Amino acid sequence: NIILRTMDVFKTYGRGDAATMALRGITLDIPRGSFTCVVGPSGHGKSTLLHLLGGLDRPSSGRILLDGVDIGALSSSELARLRGRKIGFVFQFFNLLQGLTAIENVETAMMLAGTPERDQTERAMHLLQSLGLGDKTDSRPSDLSGGQQQRVAIARALANDPDILMMDEPTGNLDSSAEAEVMSILHSLHDQGKTIVIVSHNNEIAMASERIIRVKDGMIDSSVQRETLRTAQ
Ligand code: ADP
Ligand code: ADP
Repeated sequence: NIILRTMDVFKTYGRGDAATMALRGITLDIPRGSFTCVVGPSGHGKSTLLHLLGGLDRPSSGRILLDGVDIGALSSSELARLRGRKIGFVFQFFNLLQGLTAIENVETAMMLAGTPERDQTERAMHLLQSLGLGDKTDSRPSDLSGGQQQRVAIARALANDPDILMMDEPTGNLDSSAEAEVMSILHSLHDQGKTIVIVSHNNEIAMASERIIRVKDGMIDSSVQRETLRTAQ
């Protein structure tokens, strides 16, 4: 049961002499309900791959199928709608709206998806509480720690109950206790059935995930690709 499939995906930024070929022929499957970590050296295409998998950008060539739908064939508004329902994305620097409170940041995502207003506040409150931010709902991002801001970004990503949660460098900007917290949140979401795809430089985090995809020079380094089943405990 494959939720995301890429077929010979290439991505080039810019053109002519200034062109950078960030991805060169990526073919992979992400099984529904799996926990995948994309690893590899800096500048080798990890973020680009995550952005494409998340429908934030389109491949230059090749195909990306989300639940069997070729996202390259959708109009921008169709893609935005599909993305809004199926994918929650947490950016490396969180990208919260600074002028809004924590709960407003989460509500905004639901508003864009057309959730009735009366349901927005209740669900946003519930999400923030479940992430340990029940007493921070009215705080603005600038009054929150990095780990708290990231949890707001996770709550926002979960606002529309997506099938897939994607996260770029989940622990890149956090101290080690916040890091442990966010990883435990990700693993419990995985246990609840969400498909998780993250990019990480952190070896421990990669080893704790079910599947590792190593990207090197814009390609999959299959010698390091790993697929193990997490042993039940
Ligand atoms: P990683 O996440 O592994 O650090 P990236 O996917 O961010 O790698 O970048 C891969 C390559 O594509 C790099 O050479 C980077 O400079 C380039 N790149 C990434 N995003 C853009 C962009 N928006 N415009 C131009 N070049 C980009
Ligand atoms: P990461 O640290 O995860 O590799 P980057 O710093 O490469 O992320 O990218 C951060 C943002 O900057 C992304 O949106 C990416 O597309 C963009 N970006 C990366 N490299 C370039 C570049 N050479 N030119 C323009 N934009 C870039």
